[in-house]
Amino acid sequence: MITISTSNSEIDVEEELEPPLYNALRTKFHLSEERINEIKEVDKVYPMKINDYYFSLIREVDDPIWRQCVPDIRELTDQTGEEDPLAEEHDSPLPLITHRYPDRVLFLISDTCEMHCRFCTRKRKIGTERFVITDDNIRHAIAYIRSHDEVRDVILSGGDALYVSYPRLFFILSSLVSIPHVEIIRLGTRIRCTNPSRITQELCDILKQFHPLYINVHFEHPNEITPEAIRACNLLADNGLVLGNQNVLLKDVNDDVKTMGDLYKGLLRMRVKPYYLFQADYVKGTNHFRTTIQKGKDIIYGLRGWISGLGIPQYVVDGCGGKVLILPDQYTQSVSDEKVVLMNYKGKIYEYYQNINV
Ligand SMILES: *Cc1c(COP(=O)(O)O)cnc(C)c1O
Repeated sequence: MITISTSNSEIDVEEELEPPLYNALRTKFHLSEERINEIKEVDKVYPMKINDYYFSLIREVDDPIWRQCVPDIRELTDQTGEEDPLAEEHDSPLPLITHRYPDRVLFLISDTCEMHCRFCTRKRKIGTERFVITDDNIRHAIAYIRSHDEVRDVILSGGDALYVSYPRLFFILSSLVSIPHVEIIRLGTRIRCTNPSRITQELCDILKQFHPLYINVHFEHPNEITPEAIRACNLLADNGLVLGNQNVLLKDVNDDVKTMGDLYKGLLRMRVKPYYLFQADYVKGTNHFRTTIQKGKDIIYGLRGWISGLGIPQYVVDGCGGKVLILPDQYTQSVSDEKVVLMNYKGKIYEYYQNINV
C-alpha cells in the first residue's frame, strides 16, 4: 500500500495508488476482484512484498510458492497464536539483540527482506514502522557484544541479513571480527532463494574477509532450486562460505516426505547442508501453515535411511526457552538394563545388549 500525503496544503490530500503487483496478479492469474480485495485487506496489516524473480516461480494460484508469498485472508480471520511466541523481546537486553543461550546472540541487522514470507516468525514487525533499524542501534548492539566476553558466536538475521547495504554489512562484520572473543559469525538470509542475482563476486569479496563465516540459507520447496539459485550457492561455496539450510514445516507447502526429500537432495546438490527443520511457530496470522508435531516426526522417519543422512536436518520446536530437538518415537521401542529394542528405517526390530557392568 503506497500512501502519498501532502500535509502542507489546507486540507490533507491522501491518494492511494495500487502497487503494480496487483495488476501482475490479475493478468497472470485472472484473480477475481473479490480475491484481490482480500489480498489488499491483509496487505494493510501484514504488507505484501514479492520481487519479480520469486513471482516468476509461481506456477499457479495456491501452489507452494504462491502460498509462501501471496497474502491469504486467513491471516486476519484466524486469530490463533501469539505475536511473539519465541519471546524474543523478553530475552532482548537492547533493541536488535536476543541473548538467550549462554555463548551466542542473535543480532538483527536488517529490518526488511526481498520478500515477505507469509509464515514469518517476525510477522508482527517486518515491513512495518514497528521495526526500524538505525545506525545508533547497530552501534549499541556491537558495544553489547564487545562487553560480553561469553559471546563467541554471533548470528546475524533480520529481516534478511544480506538485505543491507554493502557499507553497513562491511562495518558490522569488521566490527565483530575485531572483538577477540567472537569466534564465529553466522548470517541468516533468504536471498539465495528469493533473489539469487544479488549474490555477486563483489558481495563474496566482502564476505570472504570475515571467515569463519557460516551462512544459513532458507529454501522451503524444490521449485525454488533453480539454475540461478544453484549458481548463487556455488559462488558462495567457492568463496569458502559454509552453507546450511533452515526451513519450516509448512502445511500445503512441504508437509510430505516426497517434497521434503526432493528439497533436501536438491540442497545437497548445491553444497547446502540441511541444518534445521522448524516446527511452525505459534505465530498469530500463520495458523493455516501449522501442522501437528506428529507430521514432522513422520517426515523425519520417512526420510532417514532412504536419502543420504547428510541431507536430514535436525527437527526442532522453537519457543521453549530455546530450540528443543524432536525425534520420531519408534526408533527406541523399549529400554531395560539389559537391552534396548530398536526399530530401523524399514520397520524391522533389532535388540542391542548393553554392557551392564559399567
Ligand atoms: C536459534 C537461535 C540461536 C542459534 O541456535 P543454534 O542451535 O546454535 O543454531 C541463538 N540465539 C537465538 C535467540 C536463537 O533463536
